Amino acid sequence: MTARILDGNSISEQIKAELKTQVAQLSEQGVRPGLAAVLVGENPASQVYVRSKVRTCEQLGFFSEMITPPASTSTEELLAIVDELNRREDIDGILVQLPLPGQIDSKRILRAIDPAKDVDGFHPVNIGLLSMVRPSLVPCTPAGCMEILSRSGIEVAGKDAVVVGRSDIVGKPVAMLLTNANATVTICHSRTRDLAGVCRRADILIAAIGKAAMITPEMVNPDATVIDVGINRIDNRELFQSIFAGDAKREKQFAEKGSTLVGDVHPKVAEVCRAITPVPGGVGPMTIAMLMANTLKAAKMRRALTDHELVG
Ligand code: NDP
Repeated sequence: MTARILDGNSISEQIKAELKTQVAQLSEQGVRPGLAAVLVGENPASQVYVRSKVRTCEQLGFFSEMITPPASTSTEELLAIVDELNRREDIDGILVQLPLPGQIDSKRILRAIDPAKDVDGFHPVNIGLLSMVRPSLVPCTPAGCMEILSRSGIEVAGKDAVVVGRSDIVGKPVAMLLTNANATVTICHSRTRDLAGVCRRADILIAAIGKAAMITPEMVNPDATVIDVGINRIDNRELFQSIFAGDAKREKQFAEKGSTLVGDVHPKVAEVCRAITPVPGGVGPMTIAMLMANTLKAAKMRRALTDHELVG
């Protein structure tokens, strides 16, 4: 058996096309949703992520601005930048790219963003609303997981869902979204006993661990849908061989680039489960599409504040 592949690239393209139409309609009414992306310092991976977010904004018709303070920026200086963005009428969404340099108090920065402009959905107010089933701006990667399930016609209500990982940005919010969608949810972490046994009970298995190929075929039920959130770059040949031996396409890529991306789920799981998201091309592209969806939502909510959950 080979699993049905849940193609995050094509689902995200579909969402972006819908957003583009909606942004054009809003622009006709004189409203152009705007996103400000703050990138502190010169972390190369963060630069790639932020540029790709800004490029997507341009493709979809959003206004976007990239703010690039130096790596030496202090917490107070970054708070001042956030404060100014909170006040700006033309900015609907504020995104502060993580990780921030060590001298900056990240939690203080994330709390300073106006919850109505918090398009990453990390502010305690937005997490609180999510847990109270009054979702406002929902964290992008967890929202992307749910969107893959719903747009692939995979029923969630009444199902047993297992989430491996309990981080604030992925594991916990995706567990809340699944609970809100009426799944029966188990959250696993590094102290879980009999992880394999718990995972085998899952109709929907979400892996958000940060460990290459950790979920192996014997941990997965043949009827399960597997959502692999992990993005791990591997450049160690031995590890590569232990995961991808016999995969000619990956062999070629590894020989050319010296590295490849693997999820938290072993590629052989695709031979034993019902449906699975690939890495790359699964959850990754959904995250950026959901960021754009949140920016549009923020723009609409800010202009119809009486409908907004925050004041409702
Ligand atoms: P964190 O490191 O914050 O959290 C990892 C979680 O996995 C923790 O809760 C940890 O448990 C748990 N864990 C670690 N080892 C084990 C183990 N052996 N058994 C069971 N649980 C374990 O990671 P994130 O949530 O930030 O990210 C997870 C993955 O998702 C990463 O690969 C990251 O790159 C990827 N990611 C992908 C995104 C996308 O756009 N597709 C966006 C964000 C993240 P404990 O709490 O006990 O330590």
